[in-house]
Amino acid sequence: MSDPHLSVPLLSVIVPVKDEEDAIAPFVTRMSRVLDALADPEGRPIAWEILFVDDGSSDRTMAAILLAHEADARISALSLSRNFGKEAALSAGIDNARGQLVIPIDVDMQDPPEVIGEMIAKWREGYDVVYGVRRNRMTDSLPKRLTADLYYRAHNWLSKDKIPEHAGDFRLLDRRVVEVIKRMPERNRFMKGLFAWSGFRQTAVEYDRAERAVGTTKFNYWKLWQLAIDGITSASTAPLRVWSYVGALIAVIALVYAVFIGVRTLIYGADVAGYPSLMVATLFLGGVQLLSLGILGEYVGRILVETKKRPIYIVRDRIGCPDPEARDLA
Ligand code: UDP
Ligand code: MG
Repeated sequence: MSDPHLSVPLLSVIVPVKDEEDAIAPFVTRMSRVLDALADPEGRPIAWEILFVDDGSSDRTMAAILLAHEADARISALSLSRNFGKEAALSAGIDNARGQLVIPIDVDMQDPPEVIGEMIAKWREGYDVVYGVRRNRMTDSLPKRLTADLYYRAHNWLSKDKIPEHAGDFRLLDRRVVEVIKRMPERNRFMKGLFAWSGFRQTAVEYDRAERAVGTTKFNYWKLWQLAIDGITSASTAPLRVWSYVGALIAVIALVYAVFIGVRTLIYGADVAGYPSLMVATLFLGGVQLLSLGILGEYVGRILVETKKRPIYIVRDRIGCPDPEARDLA
């Protein structure tokens, strides 16, 4: 048996796209050039496919992909029935990729495909996941850098499954990891969290992140906030459990305060003052209760979504990408 790491049977690049008609052609040109230049240690070229997942685009993204597919059959696509979000689109790509190696990457060229060669070299050393880490995030705005930083810290503080800081979705996944991700049943697809949970041997390669080449970002702060909540609620139950401790602490403080008031009344007698402290206590406790209820609601809402067991995404069309289930039947 030859070492499976020597030759790569097939490399799948999966690319979620939403309204990216102008980004498809430059992406395909640069990515094909990089992929064609790859070779195994014996100098043989590596077979590859590019699988686009059209996440409910409303522009001519699919037409651009069809054009690319007609020029090169190694380029294929899935089109989802509506916008399901990037995480669901990535899941669709992972479910349909055929390669021994799977590489999710954004279409906007912020993550340089030239790093793929380095990733494969790490994989040959025996790593199952090689994630890209941005050496600097100078191309992101200051508030985005700060909030991203804060998020990684909060996530890794709350969750046992640490996600690597400043790693995006650009990474190389071995088939073994892909199969684990495919078997994960949850609807909430915070991919970075799923990758972290899956374990295996993981390592990083560093790169500089470029500006977005064409088009505009699809993520505003509200979407990022929702992604952050998805990430934390799916990876950790600490926000739920903390309220017992907060409650216990407040109860202890209240008890001490009650003793203090009791003693003071015995010594100095009662007076009618104390309205401000009453107000503060009421408002503070009201706030804490509403906050904890809200967090409870976040989790309950997610339980509801999970129990519905709806599919994560719906495929509407396929271009040059056979349905894996139909393939299994044949
Ligand atoms: N994307 C997607 N579905 C969405 C939003 C974005 O598939 O609902 C894709 C988008 O086309 C791009 C990638 O996800 O290929 C990353 O998006 P973007 O570059 O806007 O994110 P940013 O780099 O600003 O975080
Ligand atoms: Mg981007």
